[in-house]
Amino acid sequence: MSPAPSLPSFIQHNLHPVRSPLDPSIHCALCSSPYTSTHQPIFADIPGCRHAFGRSCLLARLSEADNSCPTCKRTWFLAAADYAQQAILRARVIVARDFKAMLHDLDWVGALLSAWRERAERRMDGEIRTEYEDIVQDYAGLEKSMRRVAELFSLRQRNPLPEVGGVREALNDLDLTFHELDDWIGEVAEKMEGPLKGQLEDIRSDFCWVWQGFDGLAGRVIAGLYGERWS
Ligand SMILES: [Zn+2]
Ligand SMILES: [Zn+2]
Repeated sequence: MSPAPSLPSFIQHNLHPVRSPLDPSIHCALCSSPYTSTHQPIFADIPGCRHAFGRSCLLARLSEADNSCPTCKRTWFLAAADYAQQAILRARVIVARDFKAMLHDLDWVGALLSAWRERAERRMDGEIRTEYEDIVQDYAGLEKSMRRVAELFSLRQRNPLPEVGGVREALNDLDLTFHELDDWIGEVAEKMEGPLKGQLEDIRSDFCWVWQGFDGLAGRVIAGLYGERWS
């Protein structure tokens, strides 16, 4: 079932003139007068309703507070506040799905990193090993922070949206972590040689690809849920 329209959309798309010849025995339910050339009937094209009223009578009556059919009481449109609420709910579903997909991708890059580490184990000297351990730790930290931010928008929680300032801060932190990790993976790759170097560079480009997706996700969080710009 499609969601109920907003008031402007209802007026524009769901109200149509009655085309059949005027029947003088049928009266407008709002003013009890018969239809005439200056009191033309229009009907609401809403599933299960389609009731007709005098055009001028109906338009005078429509308001945010009066959003249902006077005859059958079906909801015709949503009040602006409810409509905004619905739009946010839909954006929240998309954002939750985006986070899930991104966590899945991060998991996958994480698995590539640990597979690489097993292959590189014997070839890493003390210094590179320490740097690499830092990467692994920060990578785990990134996944954890990502999960924490995703949880803020989780639909299981019926609490209101978190305050936009805090959300921006959390997203900026995530972006920074992505950036640092990208640099560090590059630095370690720099110090490796042969196939191990190439493999780590490949993993780094997969990681960059996930990071690029993050930018779009952050944009959808800020624009879709808060109506602001992410930059
Ligand atoms: Zn009706
Ligand atoms: Zn009327």
